[in-house]
Amino acid sequence: SKEKIALFTIFGGTGDLAQRKLYPSLFKLYQKGYLQDHFAVIGTARRPWSDDHYHEIIANSLASLNADAKTVQAFASHFYYQSHDVTDAQHYVTLKRLSEKLDAQYGLQGNRIFYLAMAPNFFGTIAQHLKSENILTDNGFNRVIIEKPFGHDFESAKELNDALTATFNENQIYRIDHYLGKEMIQNISAIRFGNNIWESLWNNRYISNVQITLSEKLGVEERAVYYDNSGALRDMVQNHILQILSLLTMDQPVEFTEKDIDIEKVKALRSLRPYKPEEVADNFVRGQYAADGDVKAYRDEDKISPESNTDTFVAGKVMIDNFRWSGVPFYVRTGKRLADKFTRIDIVFKRPVVNIFNHDDNASDSTNELAPNVLTINVEPTEGFELRMNAKCVGQGFATTPIQLDYDHDSEATANSPEAYERLLHDALNGDATNFTHWQEVAYSWKFVDVIQKYWDEHTPDFPNYRPGTMGPTASDELLKRDGNEWVYKD
Ligand code: NAD
Repeated sequence: SKEKIALFTIFGGTGDLAQRKLYPSLFKLYQKGYLQDHFAVIGTARRPWSDDHYHEIIANSLASLNADAKTVQAFASHFYYQSHDVTDAQHYVTLKRLSEKLDAQYGLQGNRIFYLAMAPNFFGTIAQHLKSENILTDNGFNRVIIEKPFGHDFESAKELNDALTATFNENQIYRIDHYLGKEMIQNISAIRFGNNIWESLWNNRYISNVQITLSEKLGVEERAVYYDNSGALRDMVQNHILQILSLLTMDQPVEFTEKDIDIEKVKALRSLRPYKPEEVADNFVRGQYAADGDVKAYRDEDKISPESNTDTFVAGKVMIDNFRWSGVPFYVRTGKRLADKFTRIDIVFKRPVVNIFNHDDNASDSTNELAPNVLTINVEPTEGFELRMNAKCVGQGFATTPIQLDYDHDSEATANSPEAYERLLHDALNGDATNFTHWQEVAYSWKFVDVIQKYWDEHTPDFPNYRPGTMGPTASDELLKRDGNEWVYKD
């Protein structure tokens, strides 16, 4: 049977993440039969809700799914609310009692998943109390799922990790990076290791440069306070972008398993060339959006200081010092209030060593300049691949022209494919942490990012420096131009 058996305890059960992502994802797993009779959920937070009220909240969080009322009701009946201040030891005694009761009632075999959907400053306290109050079982599995951010630099990440590992082993810790739950991010390994043509060319002999773009159209919205303390580099590069980069650059794992993939990702991240402080300004560009018409400048947004120097944009050049990648720049960029909302990866190949079409007789014919081959992985909102190559122009005479091969996932298949959180919750139920971030990966990513952040903190930027609706400051284009390259996606 595909049924999974577990008690979920969701810390922060009244919060935004729980309502927007976790409850709908659990419901989808329920609809698909991964969760059936043998599961229960304890939602905890400070508010004094009743179980009945909690069931209404659950039903409301599923409203957009248009499920039938009976199924929703049956699903919601597995949910229990417990008002709980995570800093109060006494509350864990009640939590333990309820956990044991539900374990017996639903036949949960001691399987527990603790989901910390709360601010990270509470993670240590929660982990400590789960241990001291004996809430972990020894007859089933105990797993903890935690959200980003994992620290705000290497030191704080290590402190957080030490606090968690005082209670949980590394193999019980599931650090969410929801990009790793995306269909097309998981596709990186499929296309690389499933196609001889790609993996044979996947190195510095054939690849000119690689571009990773995570572009957002909106401004800072509700997460202002958190974001202003973080910025684009910490919020997006340290985790999502470096994770994507590690999947693009890792060597072939011995087997496609969590352990082997982690070994290769860690090797890739260890090979990142760390910048010296004096190299940061040349290799990393930061930006902050200005006002434009009705669109407010970042500094004028709600809850943001008018003097804020937080980066809402970052573009950088990342080098990897190993045999495969030496000399290949990886250009990364992300930001808010950019031209459009999308995520894409462009692999730009080197041009043919000799352009035989460009001999003297044809010199006047500019169409014979060969464009580089580009493999684009469209991660979202479109899910698919594009390949640009050169072919003969149709008709008399001989000239070449770039053409494009396009593949998009069928929109129906995409609509039915699980959302990142659903996929990741399913993986956690299965004990498969392949698509979660392991500690060593977090550690090397922070070490790379810390140098850049520190340099930025010590030097005042000239903000604001880009117009909403563009792809960031011009310095981002200049970063590539200096190497004779350009962004494949332009606004
Ligand atoms: P939120 O503020 O909406 O929810 C926080 C929850 O914690 C609430 O249920 C609140 O009652 C509870 N809480 C706060 N203090 C408490 C205490 N002392 N004792 C018990 N409960 C307490 O936050 P959120 O947006 O749901 O985010 C939760 C976590 O997920 C954070 O770590 C955040 O960084 C991360 N995250 C959220 C999103 C998102 O889309 N919301 C995305 C990525 C990461």
